[in-house]
Amino acid sequence: MDDCIFCKIVAGDIPAKKYYEDELMIVIADISPKAEKHYLAIPKKHYKLFSEMTEADAADLGKCIRKIGEIAPSLGLENGFRFIVNQGDDAEQTVFHLHMHLLGGQKLSTHSYKRDA
Ligand code: AMP
Ligand code: ZN
Repeated sequence: MDDCIFCKIVAGDIPAKKYYEDELMIVIADISPKAEKHYLAIPKKHYKLFSEMTEADAADLGKCIRKIGEIAPSLGLENGFRFIVNQGDDAEQTVFHLHMHLLGGQKLSTHSYKRDA
């Protein structure tokens, strides 16, 4: 998608430090961290919502999630992490390219996933 910031980061048109990359996803730090460690795991394929996914997308996302579990210790998330996917207006999704927030590096309060917490 031409006007999608995450597609541009995936393509390397906007520079970002990639903490992990494979054929399916990249992991970058969130520009506005909500925890000591706050990463975004971004599938390379552009789609906004779970409801837009094909079966193949679902299989790929499953592989990405499994990989996140594998690389979490190398991201400083060895004590655990919170996994969030915002979908649509009520969740205040702001970037319309599906991505997974990984929050950790500290004890997280129950509500620390909320934008204004
Ligand atoms: P969401 O509200 O779930 O759509 O999350 C979008 C996230 O992307 C927010 O937490 C932003 O801080 C983050 N973000 C936006 N632009 C960038 C960027 N250029 N690099 C890293 N993170 C970004
Ligand atoms: Zn995109």
